Amino acid sequence: MQAAEIVRIEETGDSLRDGKLKVAILGATGMVGQQLVGLLNDHPWFEVVAIAASANSAGKSYAEAVQGRWAMGCDVPHDIAAMKVRDVQAVDEIAALVDVAFCALNLDREAVLRLEHTYAAKGVWVTSNNSAYRPDPFVPMVIPAVNPHHLDMIPIQRKARGYSTGALIVKSNCSIQSYVIALQPLREFGIERINVHSEQAISGAGKTFDTFPGIERNLIPLINGEERKSEVEPLKIWGKVGADGIVPAAGPKIRAKCVRVSVLHGHTAYVTVNFKSTPTAAQILERWENYSMADQLPSAPRKPIHYLTDPDRPQPVLDVMTENGMAVSLGQLRVGDDETVSFTGLSHNLILGAAGGAVLATEAALARQLVYRRI
Ligand code: NAP
Repeated sequence: MQAAEIVRIEETGDSLRDGKLKVAILGATGMVGQQLVGLLNDHPWFEVVAIAASANSAGKSYAEAVQGRWAMGCDVPHDIAAMKVRDVQAVDEIAALVDVAFCALNLDREAVLRLEHTYAAKGVWVTSNNSAYRPDPFVPMVIPAVNPHHLDMIPIQRKARGYSTGALIVKSNCSIQSYVIALQPLREFGIERINVHSEQAISGAGKTFDTFPGIERNLIPLINGEERKSEVEPLKIWGKVGADGIVPAAGPKIRAKCVRVSVLHGHTAYVTVNFKSTPTAAQILERWENYSMADQLPSAPRKPIHYLTDPDRPQPVLDVMTENGMAVSLGQLRVGDDETVSFTGLSHNLILGAAGGAVLATEAALARQLVYRRI
């Protein structure tokens, strides 16, 4: 094994001992990859030293590779614009340069399984936005506001998979952030059943209005595989870490309907919940107001949950960027006479639901002293 040391955070929290960690963005030209470029440029703990995408983009400068599809509403960061895009398949070359890889590839499942494992086996910490490894019991699916303790799986994963300094964690599906974070502080009331209808933005499909004209004045009542992911992934997130992997929670029962709508950014979830012991509206609002994250991390929101009292909020255009897109906006809370609780939740699919959530989960791993710097 190459010499390596666990990375430690300075006491002030604003830097790492021995300087920033070198990172790669795999899939840097796509919608999530562009967000990663924006978030990691000037990050206090990470320095982007490698940018990679498909063979079509390889060899171009990053600015050339994203020309005509840069969707960030600002200039391409100067330092990254001139970087040469590498082919993600050049694993040896990229793994030799970095300790951490943020992965945002749109590839078939088998190819992602192979590629992400290969990077981890070469000693790289991989944080993935792709769904391929989400069902793997040895791979934690981390929403830092909900289950940062699932990172305890990493030493077990390293042993089971033979990774030395490498490791693999995944982000959950972007749609579930809008309600799983909201429900976390209400779990003490015993959640029995969740019914969720989610209206999902086109950037969740890697599209803009230019590349998806058919969505204007329209909706598409099918997002392939999304309902199943929305019903299964929360159970892993609420599961327990065991010696043989993460054991998903047995309940609650979740029923999901997912629809693509004519919104650029932000997935909105209309949620109805039944509890063993129904909380009052005042109890729910108090739990949401006081909910906080255990770790103080550079990308963490000041408050993970914001409740909006105006009856017509949250709205994607007005609220999706709350706390730089890293918080959930809630509204329309109702506790019905039939003891059903309902509310509306909104979160940014590309930031909290993808790039930002991936960066925050990696920061949480650093805070738990799980990430290596190879020397
Ligand atoms: P995207 O815009 O389509 O970008 C896909 C990226 O993958 C591009 O960098 C592309 O490179 C690269 N790629 C495509 N085919 C490739 C190949 N054969 N070999 C190597 N690289 C290839 O997709 P996205 O929306 O950013 O999503 C990326 C991943 O994040 C997906 O797994 C998606 O499910 C997941 N995710 C997305 C969201 C969201 O809101 N969009 C949220 C959560 C998770 P080129 O530019 O060179 O083709």
